[in-house]
Amino acid sequence: MKKTIVFLFLLSSIFLVGYFALTTYSEPGCIYKDPQMMKAHANKETVSDSIAQSFPKPNFPNDSLLINHLLGKFDYSKDSFFTSVAAEHCSKPMYLQKETYKKFKEMYAAAKKDGFALKIISGTRNFNEQKAIWERKWNTNIKTMDSLKAAKTILLYSSMPTTSRHHWGTDMDINSLENSYFAAGQGLKEYNWLKKNASKYGFCQVYTDKKTTDRTGYEMEKWHWSYIPISSHYLKKYGELITYKQVKGFQASELAPKLNSIEAYVNGIDKSCH
Ligand SMILES: [Zn+2]
Repeated sequence: MKKTIVFLFLLSSIFLVGYFALTTYSEPGCIYKDPQMMKAHANKETVSDSIAQSFPKPNFPNDSLLINHLLGKFDYSKDSFFTSVAAEHCSKPMYLQKETYKKFKEMYAAAKKDGFALKIISGTRNFNEQKAIWERKWNTNIKTMDSLKAAKTILLYSSMPTTSRHHWGTDMDINSLENSYFAAGQGLKEYNWLKKNASKYGFCQVYTDKKTTDRTGYEMEKWHWSYIPISSHYLKKYGELITYKQVKGFQASELAPKLNSIEAYVNGIDKSCH
């Protein structure tokens, strides 16, 4: 009888030890059996690769207001999505989308702590402001160039009205409009700081060096930074809501399809900024 009890006790002990050993061992593998976790695991690379998805989704305007933002045909001083920028953050009076500005202020404070002053030299520009820039350059170029060359020369660094990201309130030019400023000295330090840190606040340099990326359109602009959580949505909406029929109302607008203004320029941004 005693022998039987001891035998049964030993048998149950072996069974229990075996059971716990098995469940403990298999635990790490079980994590991914949860459908949510499996999904998160599968998306891990995509999530960490996308700036927009690392931030809470902002409130977006409905399509009819969004079309006006995309084309620059609205008054940013009266638009509830926009706010004026404080004098300490800019070199002249200007507006940005509220969420863009909020994140810029966080980035500004972090840069200041590290000894860098970030000043916005251009923020939101509406259709008429972009038209003034475009037509001033057009009237100069057309004196000495044929029309295609005149437009292409402007498009090295400036957008056709209705196709500019500066309409959106998400994009800004910081500290200088010369790549040479950012190539040495203080400018280079500022640029290196932005390259290292801007993405933490949702900002991305959309016009990178075309020699080292496969993007098209404007030349490199080390000064132009975009708030991706909003601008990636706006770019997607541009594809859905805007056609060449809306790219009009300024000199030489009829050249837009020939120049691929939408495909090559609006969509010609660095791949990491989507
Ligand atoms: Zn710019």
